[in-house]
Amino acid sequence: MERLQGIAVSPGIAIGEALVLDNEGFRIPRRFLPRDAVEEELERLNLAFDAAVAEVEHNRQQVAEQLGDDYAAIFSAHLQMLRDPRLHEEIEEMIRTRHYSPEYAVSRALRRYAKVFQSLEGQYMAERANDIFDIEKRILRNLLGRSREELAQVLSPVLVLAHNLTPSETANLNPQFALGMVTEIGGPGSHTAIVAEGLGIPAVVGVGPFLTDVSGGDTVIIDGDQGQIVLHPDEETLARYRHEVEEQRHLAVKLGTLRELPAETKDGQSIQLLANIEFPYEVKQCKERGADGIGLYRTEFLYLGRDDDPSEETHFESYSSVVQAMKDMPVVMRTLDLGADKMRSLPNPEDERNPFLGLRSIRLALRNRDLFRIQLRAILRASALGEIRIMFPLISTIMELRQARMVLADAMEDLEEAGVPFDRDLKVGMMVEVPSAVMMMDRFVEEVDFFSIGTNDLIQYCLAVDRSNKDVANLYTAADPAVIRMIDMAIKAANKANVPISMCGQMCGDPMYTMLLLGLGLRSLSVTPAAVPEIKRVCRSVTIEKCEQVAARVRTLESARDIKTYLREKLSKVFPEFPM
Ligand code: PEP
Ligand code: MG
Repeated sequence: MERLQGIAVSPGIAIGEALVLDNEGFRIPRRFLPRDAVEEELERLNLAFDAAVAEVEHNRQQVAEQLGDDYAAIFSAHLQMLRDPRLHEEIEEMIRTRHYSPEYAVSRALRRYAKVFQSLEGQYMAERANDIFDIEKRILRNLLGRSREELAQVLSPVLVLAHNLTPSETANLNPQFALGMVTEIGGPGSHTAIVAEGLGIPAVVGVGPFLTDVSGGDTVIIDGDQGQIVLHPDEETLARYRHEVEEQRHLAVKLGTLRELPAETKDGQSIQLLANIEFPYEVKQCKERGADGIGLYRTEFLYLGRDDDPSEETHFESYSSVVQAMKDMPVVMRTLDLGADKMRSLPNPEDERNPFLGLRSIRLALRNRDLFRIQLRAILRASALGEIRIMFPLISTIMELRQARMVLADAMEDLEEAGVPFDRDLKVGMMVEVPSAVMMMDRFVEEVDFFSIGTNDLIQYCLAVDRSNKDVANLYTAADPAVIRMIDMAIKAANKANVPISMCGQMCGDPMYTMLLLGLGLRSLSVTPAAVPEIKRVCRSVTIEKCEQVAARVRTLESARDIKTYLREKLSKVFPEFPM
């Protein structure tokens, strides 16, 4: 049994069979062969080896011609290994006697070799292990073809273990079959993590290299509460986790009874409890969980996972379906927030060096006005069908906000002229997710109808910590006193000017922070749909006076660790069943 620590990003426990995707996305199945298929599969294996040899030979010749024999020697070593009779024998033996699929046998054999090199000291040996992974991939590519696309077609329950998943790949997982997710890289605020939480599946990211220790079909446990995974669990561990799954199920049933009740504190303060979505289909879950509306619709997900730009009609279809399904409840449509980790494809080395500080979000929209206008027209048209509000992301200067509002005013004028109906009194708001916006709140209050605090970005910009980098994940926390001061400042400024303010960052979906946020003066929260019942449960168990005491105490603390310890203790008093 092996227990590994990563970063907890989506709560819950999942127990099941592994589906392993290495960093090229190959899925390696542990398929057992029927006896009469063995010869045919051996033939397939030989063809894959021959193709791999031909590829390497071709590369070797090209490099020899252009750079000389010394450089080509790298490939000679690969060829030697591909032709090694002992390796062939070992793999064939697994196929003949254990009836493993060729993919599984190749992967088992080569990963065992690689592990030997990895266990030896020194950079040189580690690079030899990489050579072996290279060979493994080359053979697998010839056996399997590219298979990342298969992810959406998984039709039996699995836990997805991958080197990395993009936010749109994660969004394509079907939670009916993908019961949990683990990645080797990725940080706590990455959109991959956020989407996994949106799907409501337990997820752990940033575990570090572990895929060589696990094969497709192995039993794995994902503990999304503690951020741990267990490979090859023993019976006792399995039994303990199964018991925990049962307890969590009971808690979910209990919380389900709150669905029709309002999120109201014990002293009668009503709290608006909204939900965050990325796709129209999530509306169903928002309603099932008893959300009061949509506080953040991440519309940019419409652009991800497709090669072309969505047309105005495509935008309109999505938006109108959400608004109509929500009936008279509010829907806050955030305009496109593309860039940084929300890209259509994986970045290439020529891309921006600091994409989170680069041309992302509203900056990208203002540089691509045609694209922006198409989206704004679709949002405006949908506003005739329900209670839509529009929100601009990543506003960092007053001028940027004014420019965005001008593009919106133009779009309104066009629709007006064409006689297309839309809501002329549509409320316009902005996200507060850059420290400069917090510092300028007293000016922004004059320019917008509402605010929403985006802690996912505010944390990274306040603390200079990349939200998707596992190596600095220990610094990325909403409990940092500097972050809490920023939130405090933003809420005070908005409340003083009587401009509504909400929060839609992941922070407010964590029950640990609910008392603090109410105590700081928030009366509206927008959380991941799965978190609605828990947050409602906390709201209904506290008084505003008590929350204000909690906030006052937190203001005096100096470290994230002390703040977390204090908030956990307070939460355990009002919500003892919550797993911590
Ligand atoms: C945020 O930054 O807190 C936010 C809600 O937006 P996103 O996570 O999409 O950047
Ligand atoms: Mg953001």
